[in-house]
Amino acid sequence: MRYFLDAFGSLKTSFTNLMRRPTTVQFPTEKRVRAERYRSSFALLHDEAGDELCIGCLQCERICPSQVIAIKAAGKKESPVTGKKRGYADDFILDLNACIYCELCVQVCPTDAIVMTREPEVPAYGREDLVLTMAKLYANEKSKPRAWSDGTKLMEMQEKNKPADAPKKPHAAHAEKPAAEAKPVVDSKTATDNAPRIESKPADAPTAANAGSISISEAAKPADPASGGAPSA
Ligand code: SF4
Ligand code: SF4
Repeated sequence: MRYFLDAFGSLKTSFTNLMRRPTTVQFPTEKRVRAERYRSSFALLHDEAGDELCIGCLQCERICPSQVIAIKAAGKKESPVTGKKRGYADDFILDLNACIYCELCVQVCPTDAIVMTREPEVPAYGREDLVLTMAKLYANEKSKPRAWSDGTKLMEMQEKNKPADAPKKPHAAHAEKPAAEAKPVVDSKTATDNAPRIESKPADAPTAANAGSISISEAAKPADPASGGAPSA
Protein backbone atom coordinates (compact mmCIF):
# COMPACT_ATOMS: atom_id res chain seq x y z
CA MET A 1 0.00 0.00 0.00
CA ARG A 2 2.78 2.36 0.96
CA TYR A 3 4.42 1.67 -2.40
CA PHE A 4 1.31 2.89 -4.26
CA LEU A 5 1.08 6.02 -2.10
CA ASP A 6 4.72 6.89 -2.82
CA ALA A 7 4.22 6.26 -6.55
CA PHE A 8 1.10 8.41 -6.55
CA GLY A 9 2.95 11.19 -4.73
CA SER A 10 5.76 11.12 -7.29
CA LEU A 11 3.32 11.19 -10.20
CA LYS A 12 1.48 14.12 -8.62
CA THR A 13 4.76 16.06 -8.31
CA SER A 14 5.66 15.27 -11.92
CA PHE A 15 2.29 16.39 -13.30
CA THR A 16 2.29 19.56 -11.18
CA ASN A 17 5.68 20.57 -12.55
CA LEU A 18 4.67 19.55 -16.06
CA MET A 19 1.85 22.07 -16.04
CA ARG A 20 3.55 25.01 -14.35
CA ARG A 21 5.25 27.85 -16.17
CA PRO A 22 8.92 27.05 -16.80
CA THR A 23 11.47 29.06 -14.86
CA THR A 24 14.14 28.60 -17.51
CA VAL A 25 14.38 30.48 -20.80
CA GLN A 26 15.62 29.35 -24.21
CA PHE A 27 18.95 31.19 -24.18
CA PRO A 28 20.30 32.70 -26.42
CA THR A 29 17.10 33.27 -28.42
CA GLU A 30 15.40 34.46 -25.23
CA LYS A 31 17.24 36.54 -22.65
CA ARG A 32 16.32 37.38 -19.10
CA VAL A 33 15.94 41.00 -18.10
CA ARG A 34 18.86 41.74 -15.84
CA ALA A 35 18.40 43.27 -12.42
CA GLU A 36 18.77 47.02 -12.16
CA ARG A 37 22.02 46.77 -10.23
CA TYR A 38 23.54 43.96 -12.29
CA ARG A 39 27.25 44.56 -12.85
CA SER A 40 29.87 42.41 -14.42
CA SER A 41 32.97 44.29 -15.52
CA PHE A 42 34.75 47.62 -15.20
CA ALA A 43 35.59 50.75 -17.13
CA LEU A 44 37.82 53.75 -16.57
CA LEU A 45 36.36 57.09 -17.63
CA HIS A 46 37.46 60.40 -19.11
CA ASP A 47 35.99 63.76 -18.13
CA GLU A 48 33.96 65.90 -20.53
CA ALA A 49 37.09 67.53 -21.87
CA GLY A 50 38.66 64.16 -22.64
CA ASP A 51 41.16 64.07 -19.77
CA GLU A 52 41.59 60.85 -17.80
CA LEU A 53 39.63 61.01 -14.56
CA CYS A 54 41.97 58.63 -12.74
CA ILE A 55 44.50 60.55 -10.67
CA GLY A 56 46.48 57.50 -9.60
CA CYS A 57 45.66 57.94 -5.91
CA LEU A 58 45.66 54.16 -5.27
CA GLN A 59 42.57 54.27 -3.03
CA CYS A 60 40.84 51.58 -5.08
CA GLU A 61 43.93 49.38 -4.98
CA ARG A 62 44.19 49.67 -1.20
CA ILE A 63 40.52 49.06 -0.44
CA CYS A 64 40.16 46.01 -2.72
CA PRO A 65 39.59 43.00 -0.43
CA SER A 66 40.70 40.59 -3.15
CA GLN A 67 43.80 42.62 -4.00
CA VAL A 68 43.14 42.33 -7.70
CA ILE A 69 43.95 45.94 -8.61
CA ALA A 70 47.52 46.98 -9.40
CA ILE A 71 48.23 50.59 -10.28
CA LYS A 72 51.46 52.25 -11.25
CA ALA A 73 51.07 55.88 -10.22
CA ALA A 74 52.67 58.38 -12.55
CA GLY A 75 52.80 61.19 -10.00
CA LYS A 76 51.98 64.73 -11.03
CA LYS A 77 52.16 65.54 -14.72
CA GLU A 78 50.95 68.38 -16.86
CA SER A 79 47.48 67.69 -18.18
CA PRO A 80 47.41 67.64 -21.99
CA VAL A 81 43.91 69.13 -21.76
CA THR A 82 44.13 71.87 -19.11
CA GLY A 83 47.89 72.35 -18.90
CA LYS A 84 47.68 72.11 -15.10
CA LYS A 85 49.70 69.64 -13.08
CA ARG A 86 47.73 66.75 -11.65
CA GLY A 87 48.08 63.07 -10.79
CA TYR A 88 47.84 60.29 -13.35
CA ALA A 89 48.16 56.53 -13.45
CA ASP A 90 50.81 55.09 -15.76
CA ASP A 91 49.36 51.61 -15.60
CA PHE A 92 46.16 50.09 -14.24
CA ILE A 93 45.47 46.36 -14.07
CA LEU A 94 42.32 44.75 -12.70
CA ASP A 95 42.18 40.96 -12.51
CA LEU A 96 38.54 39.94 -12.90
CA ASN A 97 39.30 36.33 -12.01
CA ALA A 98 39.24 36.99 -8.27
CA CYS A 99 36.99 40.05 -8.16
CA ILE A 100 34.03 39.61 -5.81
CA TYR A 101 32.08 42.55 -7.31
CA CYS A 102 31.83 44.31 -3.98
CA GLU A 103 32.08 47.72 -5.70
CA LEU A 104 34.28 49.14 -2.94
CA CYS A 105 36.80 50.33 -5.52
CA VAL A 106 34.03 52.33 -7.20
CA GLN A 107 32.79 53.75 -3.92
CA VAL A 108 36.13 55.08 -2.71
CA CYS A 109 37.17 56.65 -6.00
CA PRO A 110 37.33 60.41 -5.34
CA THR A 111 36.91 61.37 -8.99
CA ASP A 112 34.37 58.74 -10.14
CA ALA A 113 37.03 57.47 -12.51
CA ILE A 114 36.26 53.78 -12.15
CA VAL A 115 32.78 52.38 -12.70
CA MET A 116 31.27 48.96 -13.27
CA THR A 117 29.60 47.95 -16.51
CA ARG A 118 26.49 45.89 -17.19
CA GLU A 119 27.88 43.84 -20.02
CA PRO A 120 30.20 40.96 -19.15
CA GLU A 121 33.51 40.30 -20.79
CA VAL A 122 33.59 37.76 -23.60
CA PRO A 123 33.95 34.23 -22.16
CA ALA A 124 37.63 33.43 -22.02
CA TYR A 125 39.79 30.37 -22.69
CA GLY A 126 42.44 31.34 -20.16
CA ARG A 127 42.66 33.29 -16.94
CA GLU A 128 44.94 35.84 -18.53
CA ASP A 129 42.07 36.85 -20.85
CA LEU A 130 40.15 38.12 -17.83
CA VAL A 131 42.91 40.43 -16.67
CA LEU A 132 41.73 43.91 -17.64
CA THR A 133 44.52 46.17 -18.79
CA MET A 134 44.38 49.96 -18.71
CA ALA A 135 43.71 50.03 -22.46
CA LYS A 136 40.87 47.55 -22.08
CA LEU A 137 39.39 49.47 -19.16
CA TYR A 138 39.36 52.69 -21.18
CA ALA A 139 37.95 50.84 -24.21
CA ASN A 140 35.09 49.61 -22.02
CA GLU A 141 34.10 53.23 -21.41
CA LYS A 142 32.72 53.39 -24.94
CA SER A 143 31.91 49.76 -25.67
CA LYS A 144 29.95 48.69 -22.59
CA PRO A 145 26.85 50.16 -20.95
CA ARG A 146 27.53 51.41 -17.44
CA ALA A 147 26.04 49.92 -14.30
CA TRP A 148 23.69 51.97 -12.15
CA SER A 149 26.20 53.56 -9.83
CA ASP A 150 29.39 55.50 -9.47
CA GLY A 151 31.27 56.59 -6.37
CA THR A 152 29.04 59.61 -5.87
CA LYS A 153 25.79 57.62 -5.97
CA LEU A 154 27.14 54.95 -3.65
CA MET A 155 28.26 57.54 -1.12
CA GLU A 156 24.92 59.37 -1.32
CA MET A 157 23.07 56.10 -0.75
CA GLN A 158 25.19 55.39 2.29
CA GLU A 159 24.79 58.89 3.69
CA LYS A 160 20.99 58.52 3.46
CA ASN A 161 21.10 55.49 5.74
CA LYS A 162 23.06 57.28 8.45
CA PRO A 163 21.30 58.43 11.61
CA ALA A 164 19.85 61.95 11.35
CA ASP A 165 22.39 63.40 13.80
CA ALA A 166 25.40 61.95 11.95
CA PRO A 167 27.39 64.46 9.89
CA LYS A 168 26.58 64.34 6.17
CA LYS A 169 29.51 64.29 3.83
CA PRO A 170 29.17 64.73 0.06
CA HIS A 171 31.31 62.74 -2.31
CA ALA A 172 34.58 64.47 -3.12
CA ALA A 173 33.77 64.66 -6.80
CA HIS A 174 30.79 66.93 -6.08
CA ALA A 175 31.75 68.64 -2.85
CA GLU A 176 31.52 72.42 -2.74
CA LYS A 177 34.29 72.57 -0.19
CA PRO A 178 37.74 71.39 -1.11
CA ALA A 179 37.58 67.64 -1.52
CA ALA A 180 40.23 67.19 1.14
CA GLU A 181 37.64 68.21 3.74
CA ALA A 182 34.66 66.48 2.26
CA LYS A 183 35.53 62.91 1.41
CA PRO A 184 34.59 60.27 3.98
CA VAL A 185 36.90 57.30 4.28
CA VAL A 186 36.10 53.65 3.83
CA ASP A 187 37.59 51.57 6.59
CA SER A 188 39.63 48.94 4.81
CA LYS A 189 39.43 46.63 7.81
CA THR A 190 35.79 46.01 6.94
CA ALA A 191 36.40 45.69 3.25
CA THR A 192 35.36 42.08 3.07
CA ASP A 193 31.78 43.02 3.91
CA ASN A 194 29.58 43.47 0.89
CA ALA A 195 27.91 46.38 2.67
CA PRO A 196 30.88 48.67 3.29
CA ARG A 197 31.11 50.90 6.36
CA ILE A 198 32.36 54.42 6.21
CA GLU A 199 34.30 55.94 9.06
CA SER A 200 32.66 59.09 10.31
CA LYS A 201 35.90 60.91 10.89
CA PRO A 202 36.94 63.30 8.14
CA ALA A 203 39.89 62.51 5.96
CA ASP A 204 41.80 64.05 3.17
CA ALA A 205 40.56 63.09 -0.26
CA PRO A 206 42.37 63.72 -3.50
CA THR A 207 41.11 65.53 -6.52
CA ALA A 208 42.70 65.90 -9.87
CA ALA A 209 44.44 68.95 -8.48
CA ASN A 210 45.65 67.61 -5.15
CA ALA A 211 46.38 63.97 -5.80
CA GLY A 212 49.58 64.34 -3.87
CA SER A 213 48.10 64.94 -0.44
CA ILE A 214 45.60 62.22 0.25
CA SER A 215 44.98 60.38 3.49
CA ILE A 216 42.66 57.49 2.81
CA SER A 217 42.44 55.41 5.95
CA GLU A 218 44.27 54.23 9.00
CA ALA A 219 45.65 51.39 6.92
CA ALA A 220 46.89 53.70 4.19
CA LYS A 221 50.51 54.58 3.83
CA PRO A 222 51.59 58.20 3.83
CA ALA A 223 51.99 60.00 0.53
CA ASP A 224 55.30 59.57 -1.15
CA PRO A 225 56.53 62.92 -2.34
CA ALA A 226 58.97 61.21 -4.66
CA SER A 227 56.08 59.73 -6.60
CA GLY A 228 55.03 63.17 -7.62
CA GLY A 229 51.75 63.12 -5.79
CA ALA A 230 50.14 59.74 -5.40
CA PRO A 231 50.92 57.83 -2.24
CA SER A 232 53.39 55.04 -2.54
CA ALA A 233 52.14 51.47 -2.87
S1 SF4 B 1 34.66 45.12 -6.97
FE1 SF4 B 1 35.67 44.68 -4.99
S2 SF4 B 1 36.92 42.85 -5.38
FE2 SF4 B 1 36.37 43.70 -7.41
S3 SF4 B 1 38.09 45.03 -7.93
FE3 SF4 B 1 36.57 46.34 -6.91
S4 SF4 B 1 37.16 46.33 -4.72
FE4 SF4 B 1 38.24 44.62 -5.72
S1 SF4 C 1 40.52 55.46 -6.68
FE1 SF4 C 1 39.90 56.33 -8.66
S2 SF4 C 1 41.34 57.99 -9.04
FE2 SF4 C 1 42.24 56.72 -7.42
S3 SF4 C 1 43.56 55.26 -8.53
FE3 SF4 C 1 41.57 54.27 -8.30
S4 SF4 C 1 40.43 54.75 -10.19
FE4 SF4 C 1 42.19 56.16 -10.06
